[in-house]
Amino acid sequence: MSNTSFRQRHFRNVSAKQWNDWRWQMQNAVHTGEALERFVQLTPQERLGCMQSQKLFRLRVPPYVLSLMDASHPHCPIRRQAIPLPEEARCAEGELEDPLGEEKYRPVEALIHRYADRALLLCTDMCPMYCRHCTRRRITRGGHPLGEAAWAKAVDYIAATPSIREVLLSGGEPALLSDAVLERLLKKLRAIAHVEIIRLGTRVPVTLPMRITPAFARLLRRHAPVFVVTHFNHPKEVTPQAERACALLVDAGVPVENQAVLLRGINSSVRILEELFSACLRMRVRPYYLHQLDLAQGIEHMRTPLRFGMELLQQLMGRVSGLALPAFAVDLPGGGGKVRIAPEAVVSWGKQQTVLQNHEGKYHAYPEPKEGDCHCPYEEIWTITAKAKAKAKPKAPKAKPKTKPKTKPKPLSTRL
Ligand code: SF4
Repeated sequence: MSNTSFRQRHFRNVSAKQWNDWRWQMQNAVHTGEALERFVQLTPQERLGCMQSQKLFRLRVPPYVLSLMDASHPHCPIRRQAIPLPEEARCAEGELEDPLGEEKYRPVEALIHRYADRALLLCTDMCPMYCRHCTRRRITRGGHPLGEAAWAKAVDYIAATPSIREVLLSGGEPALLSDAVLERLLKKLRAIAHVEIIRLGTRVPVTLPMRITPAFARLLRRHAPVFVVTHFNHPKEVTPQAERACALLVDAGVPVENQAVLLRGINSSVRILEELFSACLRMRVRPYYLHQLDLAQGIEHMRTPLRFGMELLQQLMGRVSGLALPAFAVDLPGGGGKVRIAPEAVVSWGKQQTVLQNHEGKYHAYPEPKEGDCHCPYEEIWTITAKAKAKAKPKAPKAKPKTKPKTKPKPLSTRL
């Protein structure tokens, strides 16, 4: 169903202007399983997942995301990323509240300083949609209202730490700050001489593309170099609205990169990733990382074995250009840092655990998920729908052969 027909069916009295207003989208997001049932035929598992996750992790789905869902297919990749399953309430062995061990690198409430030259500033604990695979759920589950007072301490820490050359604005969703508030924060960071690069980690091009307005794009450009790092996981998310959002940023001179996460049964397929990375490139969004899912609590059902991801990347090498090929990386549990998965980083493979060597030369055991079946049940449906859509696209009308205007030849004397 297209955006427009979804709107006509479910929000008949809502104008296109309201629909394209990100604040309207936020005000009309659904927060409960009962509210979801108005739009999607929930399965008993999804119904149970919504009930059980109530106390564990927030639920929020804006109407725009609802409009992308396959209302009748529970394996739809948009549904799987937005609607909880009962597995979320289970904590598998090795899963952690703080999977990257960030808390020990948190000198002040709104800042994580894990690497000497980079720091992550937590802008808010809210997001337009709470992704079911979120690995920073200890923050996004709420109860951490972060605001200007907390950022002020973070900015003071950055100013007093000359080794920090790059600041990543994250959260939660930093693009939920108003333009005026974001501008104030960016100005404070730009006033620090040693801060060279600012990155904005945002999923709004995917979940709330109407948040990217020309004014927002110009705001980021004013504080260049600001890199936007976004998070498309499936080609179904690459809609005309998402394309427009990315084009606004790129046309304003803001580079956009994509960090996808490998999700079992959702995008764990060569064909889907090939289509995703090619679509990103067409939007001028560079596929930057493909991440192995972190070991956060309640998400093992979406995690793939490490070896599967590496083999997937190897197969992709023969199918897409180097420009469309991201690095495959894992953030080691407990704070071991990021490792790019290449055969030389792997010390030993195991069914239960894989041993990797990080940038400091230290060995880390990575616990493998119990489930190894990575096929995507929605893949066939998606491929058939995508092909049918491409076929149905109206072809550009053939240009009519130009006929020369019938004008009388001018007399020779006036032609000279
Ligand atoms: S947008 Fe990012 S931080 Fe927010 S819920 Fe999704 S993955 Fe987590």
